[in-house]
Amino acid sequence: MNFCTQCGGPVSKKIPQGDNRERYVCNNCGYIHYQNPNAVVGTLPYCGDKVLLCKRGIEPRLGLWTLPAGFLEMGETLQEGALRETKEETNSQVKIDNMYFMFDIPQIGQFYVLYKASIEENSYSPTSESLEVDLFSFDEIPWEELAFPFVPIALKQFYEDLEEGSFPFRKKELIKK
Ligand SMILES: [Zn+2]
Repeated sequence: MNFCTQCGGPVSKKIPQGDNRERYVCNNCGYIHYQNPNAVVGTLPYCGDKVLLCKRGIEPRLGLWTLPAGFLEMGETLQEGALRETKEETNSQVKIDNMYFMFDIPQIGQFYVLYKASIEENSYSPTSESLEVDLFSFDEIPWEELAFPFVPIALKQFYEDLEEGSFPFRKKELIKK
């Protein structure tokens, strides 16, 4: 960042007194800009042995397939955010079973929380954010056209757990080497 969000003055990177990390500090008014990771919330919607994916209608990764998810908004619980994002991207009212997956992605300052959620057949449709929305069996999933690294990990785990008949909470750190 170059300019202060409070007064528009120029900022410099420095370690504020009593802190131990560099922050953008305003040269003019002294305001300290803290930057912290963002929460991304979403669902893994399923119907029997099929999962719901949406083809992204917006950047980034336009045209690739993903699970419905997006940034948590102020004032929302994780679950409310997951339901809202699912509605915005698939026009569906899913029923949440349980919190299923947490991904830590420290390099991009994000963590993902995915809920496993059931969905009725034909209860979804494309939206302004999704070009297509559809249910896929394991063999039908467009594995080569998935938008983000967390998507195939969550999907493969889902099918393993489906085989076992139980879906314990999972967490994984996605660290780029
Ligand atoms: Zn300022």
